[in-house]
Amino acid sequence: MSNQYPQPHCNSYYAATANESPDYPLLEGANSCDVCVIGGGFTGISAALQLAERGYKVSVLEANRIGWGGSGRNGGQLIGGFSGERRLKKFQDKDISDLVWNMRWAGHEIIRQRIEKYAINCDLKFGYMDVAIKPRHMRDLQEEYEFLQRMDFPHEVRLAPKEEMEDVLGTKAYRGGLINMANGHLHPLNLCIGEAVAAMRQGAAIFERSPVISIDHGGKPRVRTERGEVKCDFVILAGNVYHSLEARRLGGIVFPAGSFIIATEALPAELAQEINPLDLAVCDSNYAVDYFRLSADKRLLFGGRCNYSGREPRSIEKSIFPRMIKIFPQLKNMKIEYAWGGKIGIVINRIPHIGRLDKNIFYAQGYSGHGVNVTHLAGQVLADAIAGTCERLDVFDRVKHYRIPGSRWFGNQLVALGMLYVRLLDLL
Ligand SMILES: Cc1cc2nc3c(=O)[nH]c(=O)nc-3n(C[C@H](O)[C@H](O)[C@H](O)COP(=O)(O)OP(=O)(O)OC[C@H]3O[C@@H](n4cnc5c(N)ncnc54)[C@H](O)[C@@H]3O)c2cc1C
Repeated sequence: MSNQYPQPHCNSYYAATANESPDYPLLEGANSCDVCVIGGGFTGISAALQLAERGYKVSVLEANRIGWGGSGRNGGQLIGGFSGERRLKKFQDKDISDLVWNMRWAGHEIIRQRIEKYAINCDLKFGYMDVAIKPRHMRDLQEEYEFLQRMDFPHEVRLAPKEEMEDVLGTKAYRGGLINMANGHLHPLNLCIGEAVAAMRQGAAIFERSPVISIDHGGKPRVRTERGEVKCDFVILAGNVYHSLEARRLGGIVFPAGSFIIATEALPAELAQEINPLDLAVCDSNYAVDYFRLSADKRLLFGGRCNYSGREPRSIEKSIFPRMIKIFPQLKNMKIEYAWGGKIGIVINRIPHIGRLDKNIFYAQGYSGHGVNVTHLAGQVLADAIAGTCERLDVFDRVKHYRIPGSRWFGNQLVALGMLYVRLLDLL
């Protein structure tokens, strides 16, 4: 996970099963456009597609490959809501409950519509379950269930009591769960690749292997790479935890947390049916979450073991396999065929860090674990802001984020301490 550009995709199940992606060119020489997007993950590509659909001339500059970052290597869990929802309300001078409720599900709708409109093949499947390990988790799930009922949530949602759990998941590990059929799972790299192709077909110019080294602010910002530059009216900074641009204003706010995933070999049909008959994406309720789901070809993709050092464990497989076996001992003889990790961008108050540096330079980053859904919301919020509607951007831009001054290293030690505290909470 070093920052030497350009890098190929990591050794993930997703990279091994990726749909064909065009070989986008390197940025060379002088270019111009309306909006220059830095970063080719969900945030950047989603914003680029929104803008291209609205007729803007867009350039996307990606340091590595499209979907190289968190977007192409995550758990693929499509989960409603965003972290820090409740805290976000405290920074507002009016009630934003309706706005927050709508934003909770906006990303799902964008993804669903795009998959349909652009025929993106990314194994989208609805069905998701939060599972409880401790009694207080079950109380939280009950509360969420009652909230969704009060909101007249139009999708199937139900609590599964402990007695039912073994039938629903084939494990004795959990006290119960909350099934929500509005959430689901997908192949994230193929979604990102498909959205990039859609953006290109809508007229966006996409460049890979083109790390941005600086942004000159002004009425017509210039975004520079080693071999080229883009003169534009607006800039969107979408490098998330993998960029270190604009350090004076953005440094010390988003911290890398390592999360790691293993993929088994394809499971025999009966075993897949036994451990996850409803084909749900599953996430436990700990602060440092474990999450899993079946892939389209019936491997178990099991992830977790968050660390705040940003470092990869010596063996991802050895670190994650025992956690998987604790939940599903019946998988102890299954071969692990892929193991990989990535960085999650964490902000201290957990509210996505979305706003503007200047009237024409915007950023969105730090989704604190949630991302598949929220990045798509963020892309729309940024595109709206560029088109002149800033209501949702301002809701995030008003938030006061904590900043840990000093080097990134020093900051991470503090976040690591915070993580230790969080682990202790999980043990209570
Ligand atoms: C292991 C793992 C599991 C996860 N599981 C889930 C999950 O199941 N569900 C969920 O909702 N979220 C999950 N997440 C979080 C989610 O993946 C992220 O929140 C989301 O992908 C962030 O998207 P992004 O576009 O903002 O950033 P990224 O996808 O990281 O994209 C940023 C891009 O910017 C590029 N870049 C950086 N600097 C520069 C530069 N100077 N110039 C040009 N380009 C640059 C990078 O190369 C990168 O491609 C997970 C994350 C990880 C790492």
